[in-house]
Amino acid sequence: MEVKCPQCGAAVSVIEGQMFLTCGYCSSAIYLDRGKVVFHYMLKPTLDQSAADASLRRWMAGSKTVKGLETEAQITVREFIYFPVWYFKVKNNDAESIKIQPAMPTPIPDIKDMPIPAGDLRFYDSKDEGNPAIKQPQVLYTSALEWLSGEGVNPANITQSSLVHIPLYIFHYRYKDNEYSAVLDGSSGKVMAVEFPSKSEMPYLLVGGGATVLFFIEGMSMDFPGVLVVYLITAIFVIIAAAFVAEKV
Ligand SMILES: [Zn+2]
Repeated sequence: MEVKCPQCGAAVSVIEGQMFLTCGYCSSAIYLDRGKVVFHYMLKPTLDQSAADASLRRWMAGSKTVKGLETEAQITVREFIYFPVWYFKVKNNDAESIKIQPAMPTPIPDIKDMPIPAGDLRFYDSKDEGNPAIKQPQVLYTSALEWLSGEGVNPANITQSSLVHIPLYIFHYRYKDNEYSAVLDGSSGKVMAVEFPSKSEMPYLLVGGGATVLFFIEGMSMDFPGVLVVYLITAIFVIIAAAFVAEKV
């Protein structure tokens, strides 16, 4: 079988089941997904394992997570993978935008918004073959295209399609008898986490904030002295809610 190189149009012969394909004329790496020919890239990591560890600790010490997490959390699993994404260049009028669709199921929605610096892309090459860290796509190119159409992108405006493997550090850690995981973008160092031990005073803020809103609404809609009775009832509920939260945390 022969396919056309997406870069120069030269014919490239394909052996059934072959993963690594390269154009003999322009040296572009090519990926074949059910007859669709796309470019095949690797995104170079800018962080090594120790830099990734340090980046995770900095995130743990940040304002979103519970105090002391960076010292108390015990990292139980460290994994490095190249996660596959479909990468589209889309032209709209004179501008060009990048759209990303995960090529594997993931609980991390942030992957779609990951910056992929074009300068850090390199072609997939023969040395990458057989690397167990490189995950193969499970989501078809055509499914990714359907998703793009659903977002209002006209497939006719796609100027380039690629399969890109992005470097991710995956951590599992224990904190106060609970397991959490975090994914770190090996290119930017940004942490993407779905669940993490957040500030424990958050529930108190919610109770306080909710009570403020209630008092405000009651004050707006009622007159003296009826409002006093309602305030009293609200206050009792707030005290119960606060006690409940205090027990839980
Ligand atoms: Zn070519």
